[in-house]
Amino acid sequence: MKTYFDVQGDGGSGIVAQVTAQREAMTAALAGVRHVVLIGSGKGGVGKSTATMALGQSLRRRGKTVAILDADLNGPCQAQMAGLEGAPWVPGLRGLAIPRRRDGLGVVSCGSFLEGAASLELPSVAQGDEHVWRATRELTTLGQLVASIDWGSLDVLLVDLPPGTESTRQHAAFLGPRVVLVLLTIPTDVARGVVARSLAALRRDRAVVLGQIENMAGYYHRAEERILPLFPPPRRGELELPLLGRIPFDPELARLCDAGWPSDAELSPPPGLEEATDNLLQALAAAEITA
Ligand code: ADP
Repeated sequence: MKTYFDVQGDGGSGIVAQVTAQREAMTAALAGVRHVVLIGSGKGGVGKSTATMALGQSLRRRGKTVAILDADLNGPCQAQMAGLEGAPWVPGLRGLAIPRRRDGLGVVSCGSFLEGAASLELPSVAQGDEHVWRATRELTTLGQLVASIDWGSLDVLLVDLPPGTESTRQHAAFLGPRVVLVLLTIPTDVARGVVARSLAALRRDRAVVLGQIENMAGYYHRAEERILPLFPPPRRGELELPLLGRIPFDPELARLCDAGWPSDAELSPPPGLEEATDNLLQALAAAEITA
């Protein structure tokens, strides 16, 4: 059996040319997007998808042209949060048009075309050993999705990443050198520990991490307009990463996301969301200057 060290180049498979071609197609598709911001964590269930939708809405309210890419192909939820399940995919000028809500927010999520409880199938030629190929297939599928969309010109594309420290790092590398990241965390030792691992891995890869957003920073009692404690104070200190904002658990935000964010819904933003949006825009502007 050959080891990896015995294989010269791509072993004659042509895979390198295919990867290069896909990278070029993705770069060309995203050429009109000013900022590609990955919302990651490493930890699942900390509010990446909720924060992505809330930030998307907040940016849109400020007049920015925004779209969301749901990179969580295994657990897509942006289509549901945006009320775009079953929305038809129609051709645009250079690929498929971004499915859009009436308020203008675009959302590309495979939750739009997976009906009911269906999940994305990633079969492979290696019968019985599909697991060998699945992670590669997943990124390749994401690449095909990115390359097939007519993104047009956007101020910000928010990318909702799947969980997993290695997955976070792989997505950052795969989506190209232009991307920047924001890491979501919650004030618990467990979450901070996982996010610290993601941060260390991303820094090893020299990825640009703009900052963190602490989600579920208390419970927002809307009627009393105050923030109540939610978690016991963590023992582990905060991550060494600029804090863009702290957003509390807000039942109204959870309700809106579950309800597909009705277009006529007027959310008075939970404390911290506007500040996080301001700080994100400032960090993006600063990153643009130093790039
Ligand atoms: P992740 O994308 O990191 O897996 P989700 O965004 O899906 O996490 O959040 C998990 C659940 O917690 C969702 O059902 C969501 O409604 C709820 N949630 C997360 N953050 C908030 C928040 N700040 N306010 C209210 N609900 C939240």
